[in-house]
Amino acid sequence: SSADFDRFYFRAYGDISIHETMLGDTARTNSYRSAIFGSGAIKDKVILDVGAGTGILSVFCAQAGAKHVYAVEASSMAEQAKLVIKCNGVEDRVSVIQGKVEDIELPEMVDVIVSEWMGYLLVYEWMLSSIIFAREKWLKNNGVLFPNTASVFIAPLGDCEDLRDRLKFWEEMRPLYGVEMASLQTYARKCLTDVVHVQLVPPQNVQAHACQVCNINLKTVQEEDLSSVKGNFQFKCFGYSRVCGFVVWFDVTFPDHSQLSTSPYAEPTHWEQCIVYTKETQDVAQDTEITGTLELKPHRKVSRYVEVDLTYKFGNSEETHKQSYSMDEGA
Ligand code: SAH
Repeated sequence: SSADFDRFYFRAYGDISIHETMLGDTARTNSYRSAIFGSGAIKDKVILDVGAGTGILSVFCAQAGAKHVYAVEASSMAEQAKLVIKCNGVEDRVSVIQGKVEDIELPEMVDVIVSEWMGYLLVYEWMLSSIIFAREKWLKNNGVLFPNTASVFIAPLGDCEDLRDRLKFWEEMRPLYGVEMASLQTYARKCLTDVVHVQLVPPQNVQAHACQVCNINLKTVQEEDLSSVKGNFQFKCFGYSRVCGFVVWFDVTFPDHSQLSTSPYAEPTHWEQCIVYTKETQDVAQDTEITGTLELKPHRKVSRYVEVDLTYKFGNSEETHKQSYSMDEGA
C-alpha cells in the first residue's frame, strides 16, 4: 500500500547514505546555493523548505537573509537538521518541523518554497505532487518557487557498448565453467530492454540535438497533469551511427534564470542520465529523421515508480515502434 511505501521511503531518507550522495553532488548543491544567494528573492522573506533533509537549503536561505525558514522533513533526518541549524547559529530564524508537508501546520503563509524534489527521469518518486500540495496550501499568491520550471529532454543514443558487453557475457560463459549459457542471451536482451538504466552517457554517444519533450511551470502545474507527463520529439541525426536506444535527462531553472542541468554535456550529477534501449538497433545516416513520443506516468503497481511509454519511427518507415519500460527500486 502507499502507507507501506511511505514508511520504506522515509526510512531510506533517515539513513545517511542518500544525504551523502546528494551533498557530495557539488553540481546539484552549488546550483541551489548560487540561485538562493543570487536571486534577491530570499532576503527578508518567509521560506518553506519542503523536504529539508540535512537542512542544507534552509541554512543557505538563512545565510541569504531570510526572515524565517520553515524546514519541513518527514524522515528522522529532521533531528539531524536541528543540530545542523544550531551549529550554524541560525536557530532563531529556522524552525525544523518533522512531518509530511501534507500533514503539518505552519503559523503563516510563505513567500517562497524551496525544494529539491527531482528524481530520475525528473518525476521518479513523484515528490512533485507534495510541492503542488505545499504551493496550494502555504504559498502566497505572488509567491516564488525554487526551482520554478522543470524540463525533460530526449536524444537518440548510439554505440551502446554497455549493452553489447552485457549481452556478450552470456556467450562468453562457455569457456568459463564449461556450461553453455548462450541461450540466455535472448532473455537477457528482454530484461535489459524492459527497464530504465541510470548511467553517465559520454556526449559523443548522443546522435542528434536533443528535444525538449515537456516544460513544467511549477507555479501552475496541477496534480492531474502528473498522471501523464508527455510530449513529442523529432530528431535529425548528426551522421552515420547505429542507434540502440534513447537517453533522457532533465533540467530545472531558478527565479534568477540560472539552471541545474543533468545533460550529458553538463557537469555530472548523481542523477547521471537515463537510458532506454530499443529492442532492435537501427542504422542511421546524416539527417535521418526519428520522430516519436515519450510519456512518463506513475507505475501501475507502485505509484511512486515510473512507467515510460515510448513510440518512435525512423525516417519514412511505415512502422511505428512502441515500447514500455519501468523504473522501480532497482534504479
Ligand atoms: N533538501 C535536502 C534533501 C533533499 S531530498 C537537500 O537538498 O539536500 C528530499 C527530502 O524530502 C528527503 O529528505 C525526504 O525525506 C523529504 N520528503 C519527501 N517527501 C516529503 C514530504 N511529503 N514531506 C516532508 N518531507 C518529504
